[in-house]
Amino acid sequence: MALLELDAISKGYANGRAVTEVLHDVNLHIEEGEFVAIVGSSGSGKSTLVSLVTGLFAPDSGSIRFRGKPITGPGRDRGVVFQNYSLLPWLSVIENVLLAVDQVFPSLSKPKRREHAERYIAMVGLAAAADKKPSQLSGGMRQRVSVARALAMEPEMLILDEPLSALDALTRGKLQGELERICRESGKTILLITNDVDEGLLLADRIIPLSAGPRATLGASFTVDIARPRERRELNHDPKFKELRAAIIGELLESRKRGRVTAAKAQALRIPTTSSVEVLP
Ligand code: ADP
Repeated sequence: MALLELDAISKGYANGRAVTEVLHDVNLHIEEGEFVAIVGSSGSGKSTLVSLVTGLFAPDSGSIRFRGKPITGPGRDRGVVFQNYSLLPWLSVIENVLLAVDQVFPSLSKPKRREHAERYIAMVGLAAAADKKPSQLSGGMRQRVSVARALAMEPEMLILDEPLSALDALTRGKLQGELERICRESGKTILLITNDVDEGLLLADRIIPLSAGPRATLGASFTVDIARPRERRELNHDPKFKELRAAIIGELLESRKRGRVTAAKAQALRIPTTSSVEVLP
């Protein structure tokens, strides 16, 4: 049994009287200990997929299970790192992490909880900044606090929802390297959602392209059989990296073309796109 199982998931949003089906027949199984990256372009439905896995939304059809049990809402078994850090600005780094630790481990003594928080802050390389407020940190440092906070809750699965998208290119590159180490050391089951194929190839064991929407779906997965630790600069010269990169980008571009053709045909025939179905009164 896989840790996370999505079977024949579809999800749409009401748009006036019509419903636009954003995700269609999505199937995804993630085994314990795996690092899977889903790569898709903007607007394809990545956030919708994250909301389904975190339990914020329910699917219109299909089933989502975690350790064999249906997901009915957010749970501590799935920790999320969002794009926008979501730190409390009036609390220091350690206080932000402790807030989560206090909730998850109320039976631990105060010194033990602090020790626990400090361990994860050190893991992301922020021991020296533990007493700083988020406003005193760079974007990259703030995102490392978010990672420490999520890991400190010791979830069974870590969901990284475009964690580096808000950062400038230089910081993003640096933090990708650090995430590679942190994720490897944590040994967690990880689901990364990203729009960056190279990021997926640096970090994941397996990459699954999300086709362009509407009616986006997950294609076949690509196994990233590149030895770890992986280093960004070295990867650029790795023939396997180049081959996988070309294949994944090719598939994403192809899906975009297919999406455009479907939309154009529908318009020529003056019928609603296949993604739109009328809501029955
Ligand atoms: P991504 O994260 O890949 O950018 P999203 O999941 O945010 O994609 O959005 C996929 C599509 O669904 C987009 O066309 C977006 O406009 C639409 N969408 C997202 N959220 C809603 C919502 N709450 N109501 C209506 N449409 C939505």
